[in-house]
Amino acid sequence: MTLRLFNTLTGQLDELLPSDREALRMYACGPTVYDYSHIGNFRTFLQVDVLRRFLKLTGTQVRHVMNITDVDDKIIRNATAAGVSIGTYTASFEAAFFEDLESLRVERPEIIAHATEHIPKMVELVQKLAAAGAAYQAEDGSWYFRLAAFPEYGKLSKKDLSGMEDGARVDVDEYEKDSARDFALWKAAKPGETSWDTAIGRGRPGWHIECSTMAMEYLGESFDLHAGGEDLIFPHHENEIAQSESVTHKTFARHWMHVRFLLVDGRKMSKSEGNFYTLRDLLLKGYKASAIRLALISVPYRHQFNFTFDGLVEATAAIERLRTFKQRLTEGRFSQGENPALQESAKKAQAEYLAALNNDLNTAEARAPIFDLIRTANTALDQAQLKAGDRDAILAVLASFDAVFDVMEDRDAEPTRHALEWAEKSGRMAEVAPELLARQGLTDEAIDALVAERTQAKRQRNFARADQIRNELAEKGVVIEDSKDGVRWKRK
Ligand SMILES: [Zn+2]
Repeated sequence: MTLRLFNTLTGQLDELLPSDREALRMYACGPTVYDYSHIGNFRTFLQVDVLRRFLKLTGTQVRHVMNITDVDDKIIRNATAAGVSIGTYTASFEAAFFEDLESLRVERPEIIAHATEHIPKMVELVQKLAAAGAAYQAEDGSWYFRLAAFPEYGKLSKKDLSGMEDGARVDVDEYEKDSARDFALWKAAKPGETSWDTAIGRGRPGWHIECSTMAMEYLGESFDLHAGGEDLIFPHHENEIAQSESVTHKTFARHWMHVRFLLVDGRKMSKSEGNFYTLRDLLLKGYKASAIRLALISVPYRHQFNFTFDGLVEATAAIERLRTFKQRLTEGRFSQGENPALQESAKKAQAEYLAALNNDLNTAEARAPIFDLIRTANTALDQAQLKAGDRDAILAVLASFDAVFDVMEDRDAEPTRHALEWAEKSGRMAEVAPELLARQGLTDEAIDALVAERTQAKRQRNFARADQIRNELAEKGVVIEDSKDGVRWKRK
């Protein structure tokens, strides 16, 4: 059986196979590192993770490239406002991004490519486009792609672009949604902006040229799959195709996978609506990284996913069920032999699980037979009908499930600890759920006790101990205030 995955380019389910029969060459658009990524971004990275893990599970190696956009309008604007170089500005957000990916158990792509480390190759591509008549330089020194030079423009997004204004240009990284315009390949330097001195002038690359350049650099002129969020179909991916195919005259990516947006409580997620969440926000509210992972992958990538806190509670319970069941199997003692009915159940669950994922990565349908198997096996366990051979067969099914879902092992303490450390460093302890602090051993009672001990120590002129307690509490975001009315404390 082969994975059939929806292809935005052809508008149908197509078989996904590595054309070189060795490794599936895939490119997935990475983050622009100007802020913390939100759960909508992570839904995309997680669904791509499901794809690469499933390919590996079924015997296909992957060569997966992800870009890091470390120069763009927003980065320059924010770095200037913060009074630091763009390198300094992006470094901390890039580190945070990878820490978040690790918390969510997203596998690292084989190749991570930074835009700022590929400037000469981008310049080369602009030169090739100019030689092909598909790029021109404007009066201010910026370079633009000539849309009129690529009649196939619109083939990915299926947009009717006949009303396209010839020669109209757009030079910002933030686009109006539906307008097709000659887009910037290279932006001439404005005073004070980060720029590179190159053969096509002083300036910096546009966003689209980065992905075309780095995809072809690591995967060749024509490769198997390009992935990203659905918001990138137009214009970003359309532009990548135009830039690449105008030079190579080959199909840039054969297969395009796009992950649908998520809603939060049925509404579009936005800062102004107050329903905007980063991974860190959720960890500080006390949700576990594994539950967030499971919730974000359990709805298939092409379906709209409605994120709710109830959904996270459901995912937490599902993970508990998985872990408790596995523990029951690994710690129990079973007589030798097999129970034919259970062998059959295990085989059926495995087949249905693989069939669901082969069918356009239907993660919801893939989950169901696993939980059915757990129910059946739990009943057999209760009746002492499960034998050692069944345990092995069922553990093998769980392993295959976890090769993709990866939530069975309890590794949740570390992401939570990281989030708390981050909250302390960045003055966000007030956002931490009281239950979480209590779980970390910092109940109000515990603080009261420490504060009382400190008062006692001071009274006994044991100032070393008193200071030690004050520092310990400060590290955990608790400030002690001495006043003439006594000692008060508060959480930062
Ligand atoms: Zn991209």
